[in-house]
Amino acid sequence: MVETQVLIVGAGPVGLTLALDLGQRGVRCVLIERNEKSIQLPKMERCNARTMEIYRRLGVAEKIRDAGLPRSAPMDVFLASSMAAPALAHLACPSVAEAKAEIAAHNDGRPLEPYQLISQYTLEPLLRSFVEALPSVTVLFGCEFETFLQDSDSVTTHVRPGKGADATIRASYLVGCDGGSSAVRKQLGIPLQGEGNIRKLRQALFHCPELYERVPMGKGRHYHIAEGPLFPFIILQDSTRHWTLHAAASSDAEMAEIFRRSLGMPLEFEMLSVNEWTQHLLCAERYGEGRVFIAGDATHLVIPTGGLGMNTGVGDAIDLSWKLAATLAGWGGPQLLASYEKERRPIGLRNVKASRAAMSGRLSWRAAYHPDIGENTPEGAAIRAEMARRFNIEQRKVTEILGIEAGYRYVNSPIVWNESGEGPDPESPQYVPSTWPGARLPHVWLDRPVADNASVSPGIPDSSQTPDTFHGSPTEHYRTALHDCLGSGYTLLRLGGTRADTANLERAIRATGAPLDVLDVADQSAREIYGCDLLLVRPDLHVVWRGSQIKDDAEAIAAIATGRIAASDAAATSSD
Ligand SMILES: Cc1cc2nc3c(=O)[nH]c(=O)nc-3n(C[C@H](O)[C@H](O)[C@H](O)COP(=O)(O)OP(=O)(O)OC[C@H]3O[C@@H](n4cnc5c(N)ncnc54)[C@H](O)[C@@H]3O)c2cc1C
Repeated sequence: MVETQVLIVGAGPVGLTLALDLGQRGVRCVLIERNEKSIQLPKMERCNARTMEIYRRLGVAEKIRDAGLPRSAPMDVFLASSMAAPALAHLACPSVAEAKAEIAAHNDGRPLEPYQLISQYTLEPLLRSFVEALPSVTVLFGCEFETFLQDSDSVTTHVRPGKGADATIRASYLVGCDGGSSAVRKQLGIPLQGEGNIRKLRQALFHCPELYERVPMGKGRHYHIAEGPLFPFIILQDSTRHWTLHAAASSDAEMAEIFRRSLGMPLEFEMLSVNEWTQHLLCAERYGEGRVFIAGDATHLVIPTGGLGMNTGVGDAIDLSWKLAATLAGWGGPQLLASYEKERRPIGLRNVKASRAAMSGRLSWRAAYHPDIGENTPEGAAIRAEMARRFNIEQRKVTEILGIEAGYRYVNSPIVWNESGEGPDPESPQYVPSTWPGARLPHVWLDRPVADNASVSPGIPDSSQTPDTFHGSPTEHYRTALHDCLGSGYTLLRLGGTRADTANLERAIRATGAPLDVLDVADQSAREIYGCDLLLVRPDLHVVWRGSQIKDDAEAIAAIATGRIAASDAAATSSD
């Protein structure tokens, strides 16, 4: 029998990200995957800004960018009658290099990293290579989860063994990252709620090496073809020589015909694969039970419009990982693991809703279609203008949702201080930087290095990326991202030269055994953006508590932060 601390089922992007974070925290894990190889089919292609921030903390963001779409490639979105036609509508979206330059040029709390286009078939083997390099993680491909039995101490799992694997694995915790048909979720008897089986589509992968350089309307990532009722949708893949086509075709062979028609110009291509996939808008009723958790597509299934599938799952993994590590290390209180579902399920539900909104926006501009759209008549021109007008408004529900991607906040979490008042809208598609407890700490550039207070040294997670040298920045200016100065435990930030006495809070947190760094950040920009003198930040960079002084709350803040008591059981008031 194999013994480990965490058994992860499924080496999709979510299981791999969980293994990467747990492995970097030194937790012993076994990651099993029923397939012999990583995914071969294209699925997701865009890591969003928050996912790239997470990968930066894991030290792999630039490696992912190196493997993905070149940094200078435009990310524009077009609507046209074919790839050879002029654009009916065009949403300009910055390349990674342009977006990085913008981030470097502003210090207003916007996310530290922009998106990255990388095909899932490129991302998965890359993540796997990072995970396999970690001494505490064992990766077993060709090993299928079958059943588990849990008791108060452990979970014993029977697997169909691959070469060299045992048939039984005993772990302290089991996490099912085993996708939409999750056998782990099914064994837990957790139903999915929402709308299932909305629509079936086919997705085909094409090798069409000349297309990228030949599209007259311009280079971009998404091309919507204004041809009802199928509305073929062509997506650039990371090599720039591969493309996917999505359409509700009636046969595989029809996909090649639709692609040929959509090209509108004579180009050589080869259809490499076709698969069917189904649109769902579902969220699991619960995110686990006892020592067994589920994450990623096992918990939520969205329509990929808006790119909230894998990206939401990566958020699940990062929320769960440090809580597992803390509990296994002995300092995490019972509320830590209990908070996983309380924090992440509302985000799953919210992102299902955002995905629905993105999809309905798409349906709205498609509804403007009329077969006369191509006619050289006033009627034809009016149809084109109306579709373009709607596209210009509605398609932004897909491309401009940074608030959904990076602005999520854990409302009513048991491990976040219950600050009185309303707090910013946690569902806004616009990103508004906030340090309201539960929010992700906004990014800030620092002109001066942080002072490491007390005897604790700040753990800087990725030395290869610290400090940031602003790839593509128009300026030679050299600054540090505050995120890069935060270690893998809790951080107490003392901002703007505050003289507040924080010794009692530091003592209270350290007494639990939790790792704590105390950083004095004299830089005024951080004080201005964060709007407070003191901030307690969790290992996943979400804010636990903020204030300008610590009165009698030190014990309560420490107990809530480390999951010893639930925030609802403490006084609902800030320290000020
Ligand atoms: C066409 C399309 C486009 C998409 N575009 C995007 C996008 O741009 N951005 C985005 O964020 N998301 C996108 N998505 C969604 C994204 O692909 C999924 O959300 C993502 O793959 C979920 O990752 P996961 O690791 O949770 O699950 P999966 O990727 O499904 O991985 C689950 C893994 O578990 C393994 N497994 C299953 N059962 C067992 C078992 N019993 N034992 C062992 N292993 C098992 C599977 O083989 C698989 O490798 C898209 C999806 C589709 C279909």
